[in-house]
Amino acid sequence: MRPEETLSQLRYINCDVWFTCGSAHCWHAVFKTYDELIASYGETYETHRLKARMKCTRCGHVGATMSLQYRQGPGTGWGRLGG
Ligand SMILES: [Zn+2]
Repeated sequence: MRPEETLSQLRYINCDVWFTCGSAHCWHAVFKTYDELIASYGETYETHRLKARMKCTRCGHVGATMSLQYRQGPGTGWGRLGG
C-alpha cells in the first residue's frame, strides 16, 4: 500500500498542476500553482480528495484529473499524479 499523496509533495518535487475536467465531452483545463493550492487547502490535503472534489467551471462536472508541470531541473516536463 503506497503512502497517501498530499499537496506538500507538490512543493517537494517543485511542480504546478493542470486540472482537467473528468467529463469526456469537456476537457476544460485549469492551471494552479502549488502555492495557490496549499494556500487554499493546506499542505496535508490529500491529492485524491482534491481530484474528487474539483468542479468544472465550464460544465459543472465534479471530478478532475491532475497533470504535473515541473518548474525546473532534470525532471522538466510532464508527469501524471495518481490514477
Ligand atoms: Zn467540464
